[in-house]
Amino acid sequence: MKNIKNKILVTGGAGYIGSHTCIALHEADYDMVVYDNLSNSSREAINRVSTLIGQPIDFIEGDIRDADSLRQVFAAHQFFGVIHFAGLKAVGESVAKPLMYYDNNVNGTITLLKVMAEHEVSNLVFSSSATVYGDPEVLPITEESPRSSTNPYGQSKLTVEHILEDLALSDNRWSLIPLRYFNPVGAHPSGQIGEDPNDIPNNLMPYISQVAVGKLDQLSIFGNDYPTVDGTGVRDFIHVTDLAQGHVAALNYLTQQQQGLGFLPINLGTGKGTSVLELLTAFSAVSGQNIPFRFVERRAGDIASCYASADKAQALLGWKASLSITDMCQDTWHWQSINPNGYNIA
Ligand code: NAD
Ligand code: UDP
Repeated sequence: MKNIKNKILVTGGAGYIGSHTCIALHEADYDMVVYDNLSNSSREAINRVSTLIGQPIDFIEGDIRDADSLRQVFAAHQFFGVIHFAGLKAVGESVAKPLMYYDNNVNGTITLLKVMAEHEVSNLVFSSSATVYGDPEVLPITEESPRSSTNPYGQSKLTVEHILEDLALSDNRWSLIPLRYFNPVGAHPSGQIGEDPNDIPNNLMPYISQVAVGKLDQLSIFGNDYPTVDGTGVRDFIHVTDLAQGHVAALNYLTQQQQGLGFLPINLGTGKGTSVLELLTAFSAVSGQNIPFRFVERRAGDIASCYASADKAQALLGWKASLSITDMCQDTWHWQSINPNGYNIA
């Protein structure tokens, strides 16, 4: 059965998760308008998504803090809802530049919500994060687990969640779904789009793949004395295309509702923890590369283990991650080896 054509505004749609989600939206028969200020992405990503879906992307370069620019977009299109990826995401940078993070992530979201309200668009899927669970006391983490934050980035996500909760209480027409992502990794199986960090990567998977491709010398593993299977940190890695499907599932769910759902947080994870050493071993096997590493001190602010209960997503959205750690490594390696310099093809 063909989906009803619904038009979605995708803020931050030129970025890593947004670009993969645009493909999934297209495949699920949604129309989309991408709105991005390209502060952490490139037109090349948009071009490649266009090529992959075989049609031009309706792309607007703009900032979510610019209410007038957003108003023009909402006036020109009738949106069913918004998927809101736009935001800054580097934890270390957020500690150094907290005002930039609060302005972009919190003020930007408030501006977007105001313009949505003006245009009576009340469906929002928001990119939240497992970081809102702080250092979890109980695993797996459910949506009811206590929330806290340890850095301005995490606090900006938590603050937006609180704003969404208050907004939902103020007016029952809103449906506001924060999707709490665990650790997104991997790339599109075509190898044409993937994660393209600007600088030396902070995150584990892009770091490993840049060592494997010879751009970086050695991986530093932050700590081998955690109370985990092998002493290294454990995370719930999720393939970015599974994550993208989670957004489609959330939208499909929203299209079935007759009234506002309020505030409905949902974890997007696999429910399975993988250690740093396990991921490294899987990546070496898939790529056939020797990946030098050394153990160093724990990284400040890191937690030992974090993995999701993915039950709510399955029960409500009928969504479940399907791709394995091997798939995640394979697709990352494919993207990295075809595009050693990411989108910077010059
Ligand atoms: P990304 O940086 O690749 O994508 C974010 C996009 O938003 C970029 O294209 C950037 O140019 C755009 N953007 C930033 N500020 C903007 C603004 N003010 N106006 C318009 N566009 C703006 O990041 P990503 O990994 O795709 O993450 C997407 C969202 O998911 C972010 O909100 C991030 O915090 C959240 N998230 C990411 C992860 C992860 O590990 N990648 C985990 C949990 C949550
Ligand atoms: N990690 C590491 N070396 C790196 C980057 C990350 O050992 O260069 C570890 C980190 O300590 C954590 C895991 O890999 O245990 C995942 O880190 P990442 O930054 O990717 O995700 P997050 O900590 O935000 O969940």
